[in-house]
Amino acid sequence: SNFLEFENEKNVLIVIRDISGTKELEKLKKLDKMKMEFLSMMSHELRTPLSAIKAYSDTIIDSYELLDDETLMEFFNTIQSETNHLNRLLNDLLDFSKLELKTLNLEKTNFDINELINEICNTLEDFAKKNEVNIIFDNEKSLEVFLDRTRMRQVIFNLIQNAIKYSDKRKEEKFVKIQTRTVNQELIIEIEDNSIGIKEEDKEKVFDKFYRSDTSLTYEIQGTGVGLSIVKDMVELHGGTIQLETQLGEGSKFIITVPRGVENE
Ligand code: ADP
Repeated sequence: SNFLEFENEKNVLIVIRDISGTKELEKLKKLDKMKMEFLSMMSHELRTPLSAIKAYSDTIIDSYELLDDETLMEFFNTIQSETNHLNRLLNDLLDFSKLELKTLNLEKTNFDINELINEICNTLEDFAKKNEVNIIFDNEKSLEVFLDRTRMRQVIFNLIQNAIKYSDKRKEEKFVKIQTRTVNQELIIEIEDNSIGIKEEDKEKVFDKFYRSDTSLTYEIQGTGVGLSIVKDMVELHGGTIQLETQLGEGSKFIITVPRGVENE
């Protein structure tokens, strides 16, 4: 039997498949191109806050005596917000690779989803004000769920942030409206905006990795194109779905449905 095993170890099967000119190769090439674009976009995205942090800290060190307290505080504030931005970008990148490598695990706990949304709205208040967007969420009643709070925070944060980021400068009353409800054992979260909207042909693609609609490029709104793919992956990890209703120039509505995880009272 030793001999046989020895013989088996010597048997190697090599399959060489010629994929040149096939759809598969085209797909691989396209993915490769998207990865390169993503890398260059990410580098750009990281460089912007980094340059600001460097410029402001250089100025503080070089001209400390010349700066009054108010200016100094303003500089520190900018450094802080740019650092936060940098942190978010890196977290996105980390989650993205975890999701790709399938090493992301959910840590579910009991919490109040409406309280979480209020917290997110507070965090995004300054950003909304800067863009003159009105955040509408008036569900004060508590709604208990059993989900991964950190991940759900990210999902909702991302969607509200996008709604503000892609707001339509030409519109008078810009808004993002959030609603939560339960149907049977499902939690439904709707995030609706009257922002620039998404073209019919982009409706499915916006959830793809690295995909950025050309409208966002024309409007020169910065981004990496990974946000919505992370959102979708995280909702699906929870056993849920995400739908999009949208019309170019009118606005968008993202609808999340996830099993609530707790019994209805
Ligand atoms: P990013 O914002 O970094 O480009 P996302 O994955 O978050 O990446 O979004 C993908 C694309 O979907 C965006 O480039 C943009 O074109 C479009 N998009 C996302 N959210 C909205 C929204 N609320 N309104 C209009 N377009 C949106």
